[in-house]
Amino acid sequence: MSDDKELKEKETAVDSGETQDSRKDDEYEKVCFLCRRPESKTGPMITLPQNIHICMECMQKSFDTMNNSNINYNDLMSNMPNMGMVDFSNIPNKVPQRQRIRKKKKEDGTKQEFSMRDVPPPHRIKAMLDEYIIGQEHAKKVISVGVYNHYKRTLADRQDGVEIEKSNMLMIGPTGSGKTYLVQTLAKLLNVPLAITDATSLTEAGYIGDDVESVVSKLLAVADNDVERAEHGIIFIDEIDKIAKKRNTNQRDVSGEAVQQGLLKLLEGSSVEVPVGANSKNAMVPMTTVNTSHILFICGGAFPDLEDVIKERLNRQSSIGFQADLKDKYDDDKDILSRVTVEDLRKFGMVPEFLGRLPIIFTLQGLTRDMLVQILEEPKNAILKQYRKLLAMDEVKLDFDKGALEAIADQAMKKDTGARALRAILEEYMLDIMYEIPKDDSIGEVVITREYIEHTGGPKIILRGQEPYLLGAGE
Ligand code: ADP
Repeated sequence: MSDDKELKEKETAVDSGETQDSRKDDEYEKVCFLCRRPESKTGPMITLPQNIHICMECMQKSFDTMNNSNINYNDLMSNMPNMGMVDFSNIPNKVPQRQRIRKKKKEDGTKQEFSMRDVPPPHRIKAMLDEYIIGQEHAKKVISVGVYNHYKRTLADRQDGVEIEKSNMLMIGPTGSGKTYLVQTLAKLLNVPLAITDATSLTEAGYIGDDVESVVSKLLAVADNDVERAEHGIIFIDEIDKIAKKRNTNQRDVSGEAVQQGLLKLLEGSSVEVPVGANSKNAMVPMTTVNTSHILFICGGAFPDLEDVIKERLNRQSSIGFQADLKDKYDDDKDILSRVTVEDLRKFGMVPEFLGRLPIIFTLQGLTRDMLVQILEEPKNAILKQYRKLLAMDEVKLDFDKGALEAIADQAMKKDTGARALRAILEEYMLDIMYEIPKDDSIGEVVITREYIEHTGGPKIILRGQEPYLLGAGE
């Protein structure tokens, strides 16, 4: 009796699995084999064997061509873009999952339209960012207001003729100061798709490398090929300083100025045809149209020599007139980047039209030792909390004394890669701890000391129910 019941349960499980699969299939659109447009654009399609779909328009075109008795075979092929080079026997049975376009959601109760209810006010966005990001108060404030206004703009009606300008952003700050992390955290909190691209991988269309539209294709992939979701997403283009205009060159600048030019229309907002699930357009990849006018673009870069450009300008200004200052007045100014102007960025090699499309420019500070110590222990998913959790699974308590944290921060400062160095340094010291501790069940607590980090002693080990002792002390 109970066996029967089990069997029945299994059968229903299999059944529901099948329906789930077919429901998944239903979520995707058919794509015309010839013109590569999805069903939402072409209307109903005819399905041929091998899972090939052809839209009515292409079907009609082929009939017209065939009915025209003057036409020969070569003309027929050239009239159908995908046909000439295709061997039907090689066609895969199904388009790969990642190259399928998600259907638009129906206008019933299930449709979840993006609304202002999804975007908290700036002070709430900032408060949420505060839980993860240490310092960078100004940057967090600017980005919170910028994002809030951006989504307001996308949802505002334009009947009164007032069109709010797009608030794309340019973020300037040293390596490891949290630029990428800030954008990642923001996208996670707002639950919008985020694509991160490196500007160095981009080149002018037609050259080796990705063309600028590949960034939109990437966002579409992150949004699960759901065009509507992608159109409310964020694209972060890192290392933007690397596409500055190359100086002293008389060759065509395919990875610098040309990329800036190529990005202009994306930043401003335009409809682009992007391949689905691939970063190059070719005959077999389905295409879809994404409008970028509601996509928020955030560019970031370290702009390494920008400080000199700013200093030069400030020195020039202050050396004019009666109140001429000393020439090296700005040499020790740690926060000189925050004095950046559009003029400085132009001098650095950014094209004026490009800068014009990034109206919000703000800077992040280089991290100080104190900030690094805070980063180690305070954020919601701080590295120390992660190690504590790992050891807690072995029922061992992990602690760091203040001196140890300072010593780790000091080592990170020397590497000059901001907070990025912290994990690598900690990993090195925690390796032995995580290897040795599980060997001995009697260990109840480990305290990492400054001496252990500076290689002059060991960590403090506390056995369950006993007095602490120093491991390796006096060695
Ligand atoms: P970059 O400015 O070069 O883009 P990242 O954002 O990639 O630097 O920072 C590297 C890592 O350092 C992040 O993943 C994050 O864990 C940490 N980090 C950097 N800055 C901060 C900060 N201000 N607060 C908390 N963590 C930070």
